[in-house]
Amino acid sequence: MSILDTLTDSFKRFPGIGSRQARRFAYFLLNSPESFRNELAQQISGLSSEIKQCASCYRFFRKENGTTLCPTCIDPARDNTTLLVLEKDMDFENIHGMGAYSGRYFILGGSLPILSDDPARRIRIRQLLTRVESGASQGLKEIILAFGANAEGENTAQYVSKTLAPIAEKHTITITVLGKGLSTGTELEYSDSDTFVHALRNRR
Ligand SMILES: [Zn+2]
Repeated sequence: MSILDTLTDSFKRFPGIGSRQARRFAYFLLNSPESFRNELAQQISGLSSEIKQCASCYRFFRKENGTTLCPTCIDPARDNTTLLVLEKDMDFENIHGMGAYSGRYFILGGSLPILSDDPARRIRIRQLLTRVESGASQGLKEIILAFGANAEGENTAQYVSKTLAPIAEKHTITITVLGKGLSTGTELEYSDSDTFVHALRNRR
């Protein structure tokens, strides 16, 4: 296999990228100035050296002074009684940027297609159980599930609720799901903070 083929295969792993588009990317790089390729290579390796994953919410954040927790998790002003469970980092960026939610977060790291086997490999369910257990001793009262409004999102919410049920019952924690009809397609997207606040108010 040539380097062009292996690079094409790497691009094919990107979300929504097919063979032809992957090949186009590879040729685009080949036709680009070497300086651009070097910069890109540096940026990619910078992801390992400059970014780390939070030990509590599992989102990615910029490494600073050796802390294992992200700035949001260590922020004492945030409310420990609610935990908003999101599918991915992009959802966090979107919702956190609105400033309409003041509790804690957890990034599940994926979703579950219907009939998928081995859910624990696809999503951070074990880590979520650990997070809920430690949250219980810090006043956690409600877990809010906010996934895409599609079959996969609903399946994920069902699995997560079912798995968390015993621990939630043990610590009298309520599990709620974000209001429907506001997120569209495969993405959890809220056009503005008003629609998000509405969905948050209409959780059930
Ligand atoms: Zn965090």
